[in-house]
Amino acid sequence: MTTAHVTCPLCEATCGLEVTFDGDTVTEVRGDAEDVFSHGFICPKGASLGALHHDPDRLRTPLIKRNGEFVEASWDEAFAEIDARLRPVLEKHGRDAVAVYAGNPSVHNLAVFLYGRALYKAIGTKNFYTAGTVDQIPKHFSCGYMFGDPVSIPVPDLDRTRFLLMLGANPLVSNGSLMTAPDVRGRLRGIRERGGRVVVVDPRRTRTAELADEHYPIRPGADALLLFALVHVLCAQRRVALGRLAEHVVGVDEVRELAKPFTPEAVAPRTGIPAYDIRRLAGELADAESAAVYGRIGTTTQSFGTLTSWLVDVLNVLTGNLDREGGAMFPLAAAGQANSTRNRRKPFSTGRWRSRVRDLPEVIGEIPVATLADEINTPGEGQVRALLTVCGNPCLSAPNAGRLAEALRQLDFMVSLDIYLNETSRHADVILPGPSPLERPHYPVGLYQFTVHNVANWTPPARPTDLPQDWQTLLRLTGIVTGQGPNADIAALDAFVAGEVAKGAGLDVSVAGERTGPERLVDLLLRAGPYDLTLADLEASPHGVDLGPLRPRMPDILNTARGKIELAPEAITGDVPRLAAELDTDVSPLVLIGRRQLSSNNSWMHNLEPLVRGTNRCTLHVHPEDANRIGLAHGGMATVRSRAGKIEVPVEITSQIRPGVISIPHGWGHHAEGTRTAVATAHAGANSNVLADEYLLDELSGTAVLNGIPIDVEPASG
Ligand code: SF4
Repeated sequence: MTTAHVTCPLCEATCGLEVTFDGDTVTEVRGDAEDVFSHGFICPKGASLGALHHDPDRLRTPLIKRNGEFVEASWDEAFAEIDARLRPVLEKHGRDAVAVYAGNPSVHNLAVFLYGRALYKAIGTKNFYTAGTVDQIPKHFSCGYMFGDPVSIPVPDLDRTRFLLMLGANPLVSNGSLMTAPDVRGRLRGIRERGGRVVVVDPRRTRTAELADEHYPIRPGADALLLFALVHVLCAQRRVALGRLAEHVVGVDEVRELAKPFTPEAVAPRTGIPAYDIRRLAGELADAESAAVYGRIGTTTQSFGTLTSWLVDVLNVLTGNLDREGGAMFPLAAAGQANSTRNRRKPFSTGRWRSRVRDLPEVIGEIPVATLADEINTPGEGQVRALLTVCGNPCLSAPNAGRLAEALRQLDFMVSLDIYLNETSRHADVILPGPSPLERPHYPVGLYQFTVHNVANWTPPARPTDLPQDWQTLLRLTGIVTGQGPNADIAALDAFVAGEVAKGAGLDVSVAGERTGPERLVDLLLRAGPYDLTLADLEASPHGVDLGPLRPRMPDILNTARGKIELAPEAITGDVPRLAAELDTDVSPLVLIGRRQLSSNNSWMHNLEPLVRGTNRCTLHVHPEDANRIGLAHGGMATVRSRAGKIEVPVEITSQIRPGVISIPHGWGHHAEGTRTAVATAHAGANSNVLADEYLLDELSGTAVLNGIPIDVEPASG
């Protein structure tokens, strides 16, 4: 029996886990009680790490499609096939003819996080897509313009705040998002135990709402109106108190002016929240000893995602809670955080290029995935003819997923880096698998940027593998797209990447000694970081290194052109008239929202028996009033239609959702032919993103509206 201590790579919480092996077999996974951050916390997903490691459906050899069927291939055969078919696309049609889609697990995979960039840069395409445009891009957009860096995103100082206002967030189930925080339940209880209050704004009475002191069941898509009304009240009642940051903020008068039409009375009908409650909430926010406003996926995947994300931090600033203990603070990551040095970078901008077909602007280098099908289907110069997917399943995640799945059939060539033959990778010509999370090193570079307590924890591979590490696969692909062929010198490419990282950090690459691969890059990034750490320090601390509570970082962190907090950037405020028009717009009588589930992580953990056993969770939640009106029966089937598509789904009648709103979780719909995920297929569910409309976007960020989709529902015939 042996034991390994690993940082869980399955969600943003970064829990420390203790994995016990009998030989090579995982016998137990439990929370690591000595972990400096998670202190023994674990959720069902983390406990299923062994099931993922041993999943017989997990691919262990490359697959090549021959005559429409996948056959097993050697790695050399797979790379030779890619070289033979991808190079001609690049040479004949140019770099933009090759698109890249990186899914959410890319952020949880150290090798992809560190080496993916080198590959994407080498491809040089403007057609770069990620799951971010069905998730959090509005927050990058708003923080980019307010603070000058799209990853300078403040997080609630959960362990010290006295008042937490959460909108569209269900961290008891998601385990936190854009907020790295193991054991959110314990941390929220902590707020109440020290006399504070937790308020949740959400159309559903979620588990987080159950635990809160107060829950406001807002109408979907109306969060920006509510937040503007809170700003209005603070301004009207002269409760604006910038505190320590006063000299660093510009744009307060513009915000005050913009907020004038959004009185509590004006927004009450549209939000569904009485004016009296809005005034009381504004007063509580202003009176709190310390407070933080936090919005998540329900606030970003809606028509006014960017305005909502912006207003969250406008409130944090106006109440004097930005960058102070107990407020909304900026973590200081040990490695790889652009804002941890005082080096000035180019101020943030968007729209540096635009999509070819729909003229949608780039944001942080990405084009909205909502238009990927257009770029594949529309002939002309720059048409996408080849696609590389990296740890992603857009056939389940993208809006109008049915149309995208059809579009993938038109491609000349497709490669998927994926551990499964799933709804998306079945369209590929070559699938390249990677090691299991227990067979690769891990350090959550991206997630420590958003942590509620500064920590650092290194995970060496718990088990050896015969598979190439993902960084080696990515470098072989980099060799192909740079014309070095399928057998490029990986060591030389790795040395080049390390040299670039060292140069960017102002270090001599030799300081990392004999290390190679991600170990060398993480060592370099740690050495260049603010804590004077090396990888050896972390290797000597298997339960992590505690780097202390969050500390104020203003004004050093600012990277805007004026060196100020831009409270009213034109790139954002230009969208306020569209929001004002909402006040006079009729709302759709029935809209669809999503639903996060504890034992699920988007689309990619449904092949693990421990996580899907029990009753079907892919159900339609509907309020009894709506169910009566429509004629839906509990346990019966409903047909749900939108402009984009139609699905059938079992009905669950519940008063936990407000009238006029239905909810279906996303990531399901595993019934496609040609996949190799037996457990997921047996628990297929329905794909709610078939209903998401690819033309319904947050206009500023291009992020798809997944919360607030107008729909029709009727009992399913038969
Ligand atoms: S909360 Fe997230 S990081 Fe923690 S055990 Fe669960 S899946 Fe892993």
